[in-house]
Amino acid sequence: MENKSIGLYIHIPFCIKKCNYCDFCSYPNMEEYWDKYVYAVSDELVLKSPEFESYIVGSVFVGGGTPSLLPPEYIARIFEIVHKYYKISDVCEISIESNPGTITEEKFRVYRSIGINRLSIGLQACQEHLLKNLGRIHTYKDFITAVDLAQKHGLTNINADIIFGIPGQTFKDWEETLSNITSLGLTHISCYDLIIEEGTLFGEMQEKGILREMDHDLNRQMYHFAIDYFSSKGYEQYEISNFAKPGYQCRHNMNYWERGEYIGIGAGAHSFSGNRRYANIQNVEEYIEGVETGNLKLSEDSCLTTEEALAEKMILGLRMNKGVDLGIVSKEFGIDVESKYKKSIEILSEEDLITLKGKVLCLTNKGLDLANKVFVEFL
Ligand code: SF4
Repeated sequence: MENKSIGLYIHIPFCIKKCNYCDFCSYPNMEEYWDKYVYAVSDELVLKSPEFESYIVGSVFVGGGTPSLLPPEYIARIFEIVHKYYKISDVCEISIESNPGTITEEKFRVYRSIGINRLSIGLQACQEHLLKNLGRIHTYKDFITAVDLAQKHGLTNINADIIFGIPGQTFKDWEETLSNITSLGLTHISCYDLIIEEGTLFGEMQEKGILREMDHDLNRQMYHFAIDYFSSKGYEQYEISNFAKPGYQCRHNMNYWERGEYIGIGAGAHSFSGNRRYANIQNVEEYIEGVETGNLKLSEDSCLTTEEALAEKMILGLRMNKGVDLGIVSKEFGIDVESKYKKSIEILSEEDLITLKGKVLCLTNKGLDLANKVFVEFL
């Protein structure tokens, strides 16, 4: 029997400093934990491996935090375990996230030597004042250096993350960022709308009334301009926030949106296997202790009902430009999905938020702006 494919996510929760908008599981000033953490990650990989011995790993994603902050020997140590205890596909996509303020030539050399074949770089904006606003630790020049070095070391499959909706960002700034970013030969661009989250410095500033979200119309103008601009430069939009040159869609994320299974390793990492979704605790000390004592705590653990699984299938599927094939979903779930959602599909189509072509349901241009309103209909 053919092995089932699975994604592997490894979380490195360390950063030099916390960015002003960041609500990810990431912590500065924890150098003393790095070594112990990498041992815990290695142990968790070993402990979980028997459960996934019949699977083949189709993608590995080392995310954070800032994985590129760690000395590269740590990343190499993790990959030794990955290769020893998991079956890795010959064409596995292996990505690592990096911050331009933390890269060195040596790191890229090691990444290549251990099989990493995709680099994701957090840029966010090209303007120094915006990078400062966001609390980033790097300059635009650092980013250019990172891209040059990566390409020199054969890491040519490169994604850059950029953000629109930054307080103080003008349309001209955005145009400049798009023009710069598309001139570098990158294969992939993730383009996020800044959401001001509670518990971040931006969240606090908003509460105090000293920071305001960008005007909604300007925000939408930036987004739709980016879609057209990327398309004119040969980047196809394949998900609400993601654009790629043909053949360079991120397989790890596609697996997530297609509801493929994945193993999450590390503090705060999420896993999805069978119909169970669960997440490790976020606290680094408790995570290390939990692995060491064989009592790793979870912050979430639930088995999805068929109804919940179907809702996920619809919502995650609609995020992708290729949409959801209701015929395929009906077969998978053993019900007539088109009839089940008949009323919602009619209402959303009348409002021009979705289109149904044959059996394939997709967001419209207007639906991209009001995706949450669409998703609620499938809950
Ligand atoms: S570098 Fe990334 S993970 Fe780290 S604080 Fe900034 S946004 Fe968060």
